[in-house]
Amino acid sequence: MKFSNKVASLQQSPTLALNAKAKERGAKGLPVFNLTAGEPDIETPDFIVDYVAGKLKENKYTPAAGLPQLREVAANYYQGHFKQTWVKPENIVVTAGAKPALTAIFMCILNDGDEVIVPTPAWVSYKAEVEVAGGKAVFVKSTKDFDLDINAINKAITPQTKAIIVNSPNNPTGASYSKESLDKLAELLIDNDIYVISDDIYSRLIYKDIHLPLNTSIPKDKLVIINGFSKSQGLTGWRIGYIVTSRELTKKLTSLLSHTNGNAPVTAQHAGIAALNNNDEPEFIEDLKEKREITAKLLGGIKGIDFKKPDGGFYYFVDISKITTNSALFCQDILEKYGVVLVPGEAFEAPGYFRLSFACSNHTLEDGIKLIDKFIKGE
Ligand code: PLP
Repeated sequence: MKFSNKVASLQQSPTLALNAKAKERGAKGLPVFNLTAGEPDIETPDFIVDYVAGKLKENKYTPAAGLPQLREVAANYYQGHFKQTWVKPENIVVTAGAKPALTAIFMCILNDGDEVIVPTPAWVSYKAEVEVAGGKAVFVKSTKDFDLDINAINKAITPQTKAIIVNSPNNPTGASYSKESLDKLAELLIDNDIYVISDDIYSRLIYKDIHLPLNTSIPKDKLVIINGFSKSQGLTGWRIGYIVTSRELTKKLTSLLSHTNGNAPVTAQHAGIAALNNNDEPEFIEDLKEKREITAKLLGGIKGIDFKKPDGGFYYFVDISKITTNSALFCQDILEKYGVVLVPGEAFEAPGYFRLSFACSNHTLEDGIKLIDKFIKGE
């Protein structure tokens, strides 16, 4: 059986593979401290359950671009919360999560061999999504502080460059890009016809004021915003997200989705309406703030590692390069010895680090970090 070139080298996401190993250990009755979660440790918020409960009789196809009401509340949210008066319902396309949103965008803008600049460390799925659409991911290392390296990005631009992905707050680093670097990126776009794909999935889980690309001088006709409710409301399994972009691209995306995915699940769309009626407020943010502090305190007591408190999201990206550059082996060994599950930096094109998610119970977090300390001390 031969597969297409587009998927021939495709492998399952490394985080899923790690979780499978952790489950295997758990099934044998061995202790597991899973610090890989890419989703909040909450149930569906009650206000969403109550709202959607009244909609369960709805079973018909919706328009491919999404329920008009959802597009309207999403536009109102961008106008109100983000002060983007240009965003109208016609600028919104609803998708079954951010992942299909990204895949649909790449299908719409890439020809075979077109390049997409991906600043690293980068979320694991960007490369695969670009490649499945026939494109090529061009990795560009970020600065030491995990800000965009504008000189390196400038050098990476070629006639084939179609887009750059910006993800701020970032998975895995937790850092947000500075306004200065985003404005410099906007300057680069004056002479280059390049889309800025801004993955804003963590934009409601923030611990300080940050500048999203939409708040900078990046021209709106070159901006493609990805958002959704997986992180802000813990609706990962419901599969619901959306794209905010130019009307031109919105129309093309709608045509594509009408033949491929169809509409996002109607119940999940109602969940999105409920969330936006509540201004997409993450009710669990205070709990996350506390976990962010607990993590900083415990990691701060471990010798030989470096880290920065995240600006947003729920990950710490811990520098272990003084201990080893083979973070994959480090993560494998600590899983085998103590059952602590971490994602190695290699998964994000950044060896010498591990990603620790604090979206877990306090008990898992505290015991897991104590075991990291023990492991590093060689105990
Ligand atoms: N973008 C980033 C940066 C993510 O971390 C994730 C999930 O881990 C996604 C997109 C996917 O989100 P969704 O569940 O809406 O597909």
